[in-house]
Amino acid sequence: MRQLEFDTIVVGSGLAGLAAAYHSSAYGRVAIVTKSELDTSNSWFAQGGIAAVTAADDAPEIHLQDTLAAGRGLCDYDAVEVLVTEGRERVRELIEAGMPFDRDAGGKILLGLEGGHTRRRILHAGGDATGRELTRFLLQKVVEKENIFAFEFTAVVRFLVRDGCVFGVQGLDFFTGENLLFRARAVIMATGGLSRVYSRSTNPHTATGDGIALAYQAGARIADLEFIQFHPTALYMPGDDAFLISEAVRGEGAWLLNSGGKRFMEGIHPMAELAPRDVVAYSIFREMHQRGDDCVYLSLSHLNAGKIQSRFGTIGQKLREYGLDMTRDRIPVAPAAHYMVGGIRTGLYGETNLRGLFVCGEAASTGVMGANRLASNSLLECLVYGKRASQKASELIPLQCKAEKMKSFAVSPDYENSFLELKNEIAGLMATKLGIIRTRQTMLGALNRLEAIAARFGEHKYDYNLLKIKNIADICRLIARAAITREESRGGHIRQDFPTEDPRFRVHIIQQKDMPVSFEPVKDKTEG
Ligand SMILES: Cc1cc2nc3c(=O)[nH]c(=O)nc-3n(C[C@H](O)[C@H](O)[C@H](O)COP(=O)(O)OP(=O)(O)OC[C@H]3O[C@@H](n4cnc5c(N)ncnc54)[C@H](O)[C@@H]3O)c2cc1C
Repeated sequence: MRQLEFDTIVVGSGLAGLAAAYHSSAYGRVAIVTKSELDTSNSWFAQGGIAAVTAADDAPEIHLQDTLAAGRGLCDYDAVEVLVTEGRERVRELIEAGMPFDRDAGGKILLGLEGGHTRRRILHAGGDATGRELTRFLLQKVVEKENIFAFEFTAVVRFLVRDGCVFGVQGLDFFTGENLLFRARAVIMATGGLSRVYSRSTNPHTATGDGIALAYQAGARIADLEFIQFHPTALYMPGDDAFLISEAVRGEGAWLLNSGGKRFMEGIHPMAELAPRDVVAYSIFREMHQRGDDCVYLSLSHLNAGKIQSRFGTIGQKLREYGLDMTRDRIPVAPAAHYMVGGIRTGLYGETNLRGLFVCGEAASTGVMGANRLASNSLLECLVYGKRASQKASELIPLQCKAEKMKSFAVSPDYENSFLELKNEIAGLMATKLGIIRTRQTMLGALNRLEAIAARFGEHKYDYNLLKIKNIADICRLIARAAITREESRGGHIRQDFPTEDPRFRVHIIQQKDMPVSFEPVKDKTEG
């Protein structure tokens, strides 16, 4: 097995990975190990934009309060403070470096509005192609660095751990079948979320939570996995992927209508269609359930058609493929799994309980998202904590551990069908038993089945398809256990059997291998 030495290993090439790699290059040689192409990530598909304070009527304190309100009492104060203050700096640096955010005819940056924000503060690019533009911009900066080396189509399959310290990773190159051992003073995980474990999801196929599963198996602390954010408005076309219709569309004034043509959000929340995501997703779910419908509708026919066409080019193009004109026709939408709020528990620099392991982006639970992410805060989190993780990682002194003899992983076509069958079974189970509304009874049923699958594939015999099944079963078990433990409804976690918020559960739920589930207090503002 080939061994490669670097100063820092970054796993994943979404915005968090690119930010971490770019900043780490100031401290030595960097490897980016990513399981698909460099530009395959959730980040690439982000539409609405990135939230940051740039307007005269806005301030970090207001952004902070909006984030805390959406997070329903579960945000860690210091982490949010870092996000909104340093976030402003990171976005200012991007603007100065020439990032092409959309501007009006006079050159002023255009700001969008999204659910839960009390100010217009969403910078966007390419209309509704912010993720693509931002990722492309940073990727260009990364490829220009001579000391960053990219390993595409290489999945990380295991951490190298000795006495609670991570000193590298094992990767499998799909093209050559070669196993590689990467060693470094620090590993920065930026492997993104897991929403693709649900049958209806806005995420690309790569978002199956590998990073969480690998970190859990290595002994990392995993927090708040019960909070899965369901995006209220993903296109509903039976049999097709749940293409996202950005919240920015409602920010520009789109209405949500039921099948009777009635606006139903007005009586539910003072911000109507722009209420926080958990409120809108649940209200849509209830409306569909009560009327026996599979979807509700977005309507933009009362808005300025020219403005809509220029702001939402990507969405408009996609809808035209289905014969829909977004300025005129009603768009069928329903909620879909979109964002993992919890993740690998980190401190304010992405550091974890395992020396040498840092995490940033959607894979991390820094405490900024609480029980429900405020729209467009995630791209900001990638930039802020990607930089912080790289700084802290650079301070570590390399360990002189030798990797023990590792077994190689292979990709055998024999297990391809078993993988697809089980992945689909689990995705259906997650959607029906651990979706928007949950009860103990149904979750227990799901957990039992997941335990059986995990037990069957516990010994994965070093086949990558079998490892993927084991990883997905592990992650889903973690979601189920956390969701069963949290006997209340809060943010993105709604229990039919415990319909209200319970102050006893104003805690983070922590899971660690071979340990009982535990609780960690929320970090409030400290005086002085
Ligand atoms: C359709 C859509 C629209 C969105 N719109 C917005 C928006 O407007 N504003 C906003 O703030 N947020 C938005 N989000 C959320 C946001 O895009 C993500 O939270 C954010 O981009 C996550 O970035 P990341 O770098 O942490 O992960 P990702 O961008 O998902 O990158 C993860 C990377 O890790 C790699 N990887 C995973 N597992 C392995 C492994 N085992 N080995 C090697 N590599 C691995 C993947 O291939 C990928 O390169 C949107 C999300 C989606 C899906």
